[in-house]
Amino acid sequence: MNAIYDRPISANILIVDDTPESLLLLSETLSKQGYKVRGAVKGKMGIKAAQSAPPDLILLDIKMPDINGYEVCQMLKSDPKTQEIPVIFLSALDDVGDKVKGFQLGGADYITKPFQIEEVLARVKNQLLIRQLNKQLLAQSEQLQVQNRQLQQEIIERRKAEAAAEAASQAKSEFVANMSHELRTPLNAILGFTQIMKRELLSSEQLEYLEIINRNSSHLLGLIDDVLELSKIEAGRQVLNESSFDFYAFLDALEEIFQIQAEQKGLYILFQVAPGVPQYIKTDQQKLRCCLINLIGNAIKFTDRGRIDVKISCKESPIKSLNCWFLHLEISDTGCGIDAAEIDNIFCAFSQAKPGRKHLGGAGLGLAIAQRFVQIMGGEITVSSQLNLGTTFKFDIKIISVPGLDFPVETPLKVIGLQPDREAYRILIVDDNKDNRLLLVKLLEPIGFDVREADNGRDAVTQWSAFRPHLIWMDTRMPLMGGFEAAREIRSQEKELDSELCESNSRTVIIALTASVFEEKRAAALAAGFDDFISKPFVPEVIFETMGKYLGVRYIYQNLPVTTKGCRKVNIFNEESEAFLQKNMAEMPLSWVAELEQAAKNLNEEGVQESIEQIPESNHLFAEALKDLLRDFRLDIIVKITQSFPVKH
Ligand code: ADP
Repeated sequence: MNAIYDRPISANILIVDDTPESLLLLSETLSKQGYKVRGAVKGKMGIKAAQSAPPDLILLDIKMPDINGYEVCQMLKSDPKTQEIPVIFLSALDDVGDKVKGFQLGGADYITKPFQIEEVLARVKNQLLIRQLNKQLLAQSEQLQVQNRQLQQEIIERRKAEAAAEAASQAKSEFVANMSHELRTPLNAILGFTQIMKRELLSSEQLEYLEIINRNSSHLLGLIDDVLELSKIEAGRQVLNESSFDFYAFLDALEEIFQIQAEQKGLYILFQVAPGVPQYIKTDQQKLRCCLINLIGNAIKFTDRGRIDVKISCKESPIKSLNCWFLHLEISDTGCGIDAAEIDNIFCAFSQAKPGRKHLGGAGLGLAIAQRFVQIMGGEITVSSQLNLGTTFKFDIKIISVPGLDFPVETPLKVIGLQPDREAYRILIVDDNKDNRLLLVKLLEPIGFDVREADNGRDAVTQWSAFRPHLIWMDTRMPLMGGFEAAREIRSQEKELDSELCESNSRTVIIALTASVFEEKRAAALAAGFDDFISKPFVPEVIFETMGKYLGVRYIYQNLPVTTKGCRKVNIFNEESEAFLQKNMAEMPLSWVAELEQAAKNLNEEGVQESIEQIPESNHLFAEALKDLLRDFRLDIIVKITQSFPVKH
């Protein structure tokens, strides 16, 4: 038997029956079972008794003198006070129609007279059990409803909080964008004019001061950029921005920067590239550069003695057909290390470990940004460190190896004039900031461009119709009329003119020049009629390049030494670098080659160094390549090259 069923149920039972014997038998039997029993011999009495103290169950005879059981049941079911009480009909009527009628009126069960007392007891117990379970269900469902209401309330409150947080984050992003504009605009002038002044003939002292201004402004710009990067990451606006580039040249440029910094601190820095790392790769160049700058910069910052090693290796990923590789990068130093108690927090924004707090100039953002960027590039960054011994950061990123055919040899070129083969290009510079306007004027006028200025969008539109510039450099935020509106206005006037003259007039190229940081503005700029979008602060090369791209401007360049593609690649000694060394060595006197050979054979590093110092400045790349070999202890290679020359004595 079922456990619930076996448990005794205490209950009040009302018996309504006009037959005294039947009433007596039932009440005695039920009382013996522990039930509290009341009796009524007439229908109306039964209703009253039920209303005054509702029982848990009613046994109801059908045939009664005043009103019959069906009517009693009907009345009980129409009264909210009694409608839930289960009713079991008792009757000698055993026609199916009678029973069905009983159920239709709301009866819970039907017992035919003469009844077996065991059957009555079992049916009574059943109904009481059902009623008890029903009550429990009802209580639980009420409780659930209360909880449901609470949950709904919580959801409403959470949604409100989320909306408020979203609005606050939006406001923060706007604020950051505005601040970035405010902070970058003056920096643009500072950095730009230092670049222009560097073109003047200056004393070495003045050049040094300029260098200091330049370095400090760049540092400030770096800090602002870090804060902005982080806010972009938080706003979910950082996405993978892949491009193909020469990875060796990329590493060379980085090594060049950090070589100087390391030397200034008396540190030794070595970039080691494992064989097989592809030269031309596709990934997010800016993010990769930012990660390496942060990690190598930190390694130098937190190391006072010893060395920094930057190791790059590669393994092919399973998707071979797509030329997909995993690039593994490792930056280790022999610096102060990080305390085990602090190591878990160093990737959190604005958090610095002890040595970091002592250092001026850090904001604790570099690693947070690097970690997020590595994740965006499909990898993870890890750190291991031992206090006072050093630290190693490692990360992998996904890259695609691309063919090198599309990469021209890059030469450092300085624009000094325009090819005299055509009329002067008319350029309109629109910026409300006088310094920034002047910066572009000073950059473009000496080269030979015909330059005019406007300090707001409205003036730009007026000047455009009179001056008909080939290209407009247009700031975006300006009083009276902003750059977007001005670009739209110019485009619509161009259209009108074209339809009036039934021909397509030459269209002005309009380039947005803005200190705003958010990439999605690019789409808005293009939609407004801009041809392109350049961020401030800019470097002169970008300005010249853009004008070359859109106007086909052909420049005269100052001759600068030409870098041979990939020849400075550290740790890679291949046919290309051998040919480079041989070609350059052939230009040196044979006696010099002999001395170098002797020094290299004797493992006399100082002697090799002395020979390198005799190489003329005009051939500094050759000197650099030899220095790399010396630094990597590859004197054997130097001997090999020198030996390929005729007998020198
Ligand atoms: P910042 O360098 O601006 O302080 P980072 O986010 O780049 O911020 O680094 C966070 C902290 O991690 C640093 O302040 C420093 O305490 C610790 N740290 C990072 N790199 C190194 C390292 N190579 N050696 C020792 N400590 C480091």
